[in-house]
Amino acid sequence: MNDPDAAAPGSGHEPGHGAAFEWQRDLPVGNTLHLPAAARYALVLHQTAPSLFEHKAIADWLTDRQTLVVGGGSNLVFVTPAIQQAVRVDAAGWWIDREGEQFVDIAVEAGKGLDDLVRETARRAWFGLEALAEIPGSVGAAPVQNVGAYGTEIGEHVRWVEAFDRDEARIVRLTARECRFGYRQSRFKREPGRWLILRVGLRLHRQAPDHWPETRYPGVAEALADWSCRSGQPITSIAPDAFAELITAIRRSKLPDWRQGLPGSVGSFFQNPVISIDMADRLTSRWSDMPRFPTPGADGQVKLSAGWLIEQCGWKGYRDDGVGVSPNHALVLMHYGGADGQAFWSLACRIRESVDRTFGIALDPEPRIVE
Ligand SMILES: Cc1cc2nc3c(=O)[nH]c(=O)nc-3n(C[C@H](O)[C@H](O)[C@H](O)COP(=O)(O)OP(=O)(O)OC[C@H]3O[C@@H](n4cnc5c(N)ncnc54)[C@H](O)[C@@H]3O)c2cc1C
Repeated sequence: MNDPDAAAPGSGHEPGHGAAFEWQRDLPVGNTLHLPAAARYALVLHQTAPSLFEHKAIADWLTDRQTLVVGGGSNLVFVTPAIQQAVRVDAAGWWIDREGEQFVDIAVEAGKGLDDLVRETARRAWFGLEALAEIPGSVGAAPVQNVGAYGTEIGEHVRWVEAFDRDEARIVRLTARECRFGYRQSRFKREPGRWLILRVGLRLHRQAPDHWPETRYPGVAEALADWSCRSGQPITSIAPDAFAELITAIRRSKLPDWRQGLPGSVGSFFQNPVISIDMADRLTSRWSDMPRFPTPGADGQVKLSAGWLIEQCGWKGYRDDGVGVSPNHALVLMHYGGADGQAFWSLACRIRESVDRTFGIALDPEPRIVE
């Protein structure tokens, strides 16, 4: 482990700026599950200028694989409360890189809240991010699992990601193709511990996309019809900020509010499994109402609903010893208070085992498990 006291003083400055970085001891690591967690030593970056990474102490800290990258903690499960060393990017600026008649290219620092960015860009009537309203977490973490909701994934709008390559100890700019985005997947998730994302380049649009607005998802068509009735305008004329508000209302009716305290969650706990059509057919012959969805780009495979599988095993609404499963959504595991990471993780393992026993399907957790 690197010794931050030996490596650097409490904070550092880049010429012409405030504190560019800080070393901290016993930094509490906030997380939306509200499980106890603290980093014994942590580096907090207030800037993302490339020159910062020429500091030997910073480069050493980042190339040490023990250093855990933390963002807003909305996709981290602290089974253990004690983290030896961590890094967090707090820099949260964004600016316009390039503009055209049809598009706006922006660059965003990793510490910016994704939901804040969605609202600020939607207010400017730029199309692209509005369906991601109300998703917690930082812009820096968004490419990691290619965050998505209501038919939009961040990866569709990414032009590049600038990151510190912890294997090579240098900053690189990856194109969207090099990020290898997939459903809740990316190169950053497939290569855990390798990347610290510093800035993300996004392309947004001045005009509505084809088939605007998206109506395929439960609740959205009804909410749009209601909006149209109230405003007296056709649904196709809804602006990005009004659409973001509508998505916010739908999400708040289903998910616990991550801005409040307990109960805590990380949103969907398991990924929807993708299985072969043959296997899905075998399951359908027994469970005829089992939902299945096409998976574009994955021939011969279908996606199932992890929430449905968990519900069939009787877990929806389960609650014991401070942990449980949401009564509204079987995919959302909850911490009601007073439990520790071990208890929460043990519930997740029991759910996984029972789905495996019943359906022969091994569910993968969506969040990163810190053990
Ligand atoms: C109520 C609720 C609803 C949610 N809804 C959705 C949803 O609809 N769709 C969806 O996709 N997700 C959803 N999520 C999950 C979560 O919001 C996203 O995964 C989010 O991107 C996590 O951001 P974070 O900053 O909190 O990351 P953290 O939880 O801090 O970290 C998550 C992962 O990213 C890594 N990481 C963090 N910052 C960086 C960085 N700068 N560089 C490299 N790696 C980094 C961490 O090491 C970790 O592996 C939801 C979560 C909650 C609590």
